Amino acid sequence: MNANTELFIRIGAAIGIFLALALWELLTPRRTLTVGRARRWPSNLGIVVVDAVLVRLLIPVAAVGMAILAAERGWGLLNITPWPIWLEVLIGFFALDLAIYGQHVAFHKVPILWRLHRMHHADLDIDVSTGLRFHPIEIILSMLIKIAVVVLVGVPALAVVIFEVVLNATSMFNHSNAVMPISLDRIVRLIVVTPDMHRVHHSIKREETDSNFGFNLPWWDRLFGTYRAQPEAGHESMTIGLPIFRDRRELRLDRLMTQPFRNDAGEIATTPQAESENAG
Ligand SMILES: [Zn+2]
Ligand SMILES: [Zn+2]
Repeated sequence: MNANTELFIRIGAAIGIFLALALWELLTPRRTLTVGRARRWPSNLGIVVVDAVLVRLLIPVAAVGMAILAAERGWGLLNITPWPIWLEVLIGFFALDLAIYGQHVAFHKVPILWRLHRMHHADLDIDVSTGLRFHPIEIILSMLIKIAVVVLVGVPALAVVIFEVVLNATSMFNHSNAVMPISLDRIVRLIVVTPDMHRVHHSIKREETDSNFGFNLPWWDRLFGTYRAQPEAGHESMTIGLPIFRDRRELRLDRLMTQPFRNDAGEIATTPQAESENAG
């Protein structure tokens, strides 16, 4: 498998899964959206295009390319062990997922990294499009972290492709604003992070924001004590977003890009008209 095939599989899978989840949200919405799709989706999907272009331009050797190179050169633990490929794929997958969990915790705890990541949290609603809304610099750092794990652990290229497709799918899935019966949610969240589990992470309350860091496997949160079952205010009445960037103009694509470099929405309101819009 070459890097282009991998890209083709990822994009095809992502579009199909996005459409299926969008339909699910449409048929059985979990919460009434406060701002709605028309104002949020152009920006949330626009940032995906920016991310794809930037990452492809700046990092021509993506994680899967590095996995192929590492295998050829014998770099990384799994490239010197004689274990069966299925076991190495499984270990590689878990290693990448643990790294992404650790990265997510770091992006909350380290102030400069939080500036990049809080753009994901500043969405005033949470739905399938929020699962794609990440600042391009965060995407680039995340890709570099994955490449480092691939080289150190010797993750097989197959595991990288599976992980990228699965992570993209589960990220869209667990941001979905769709109803999953509580009894089903209880079983599914033993294996994968569910929408109700990840929604807690988008609460405006900081202690809830700083919980449920998993995007894919839910076990790391339970293992490291960052698991929180439900939001205190309940799923329907909890407030989504951050105390800052609550001005609806902050949902524009250009504002999303500059949020890491600004302190809050108030800084933009320089005219009296903007002030009164803010107050409303
Ligand atoms: Zn987060
Ligand atoms: Zn999220």
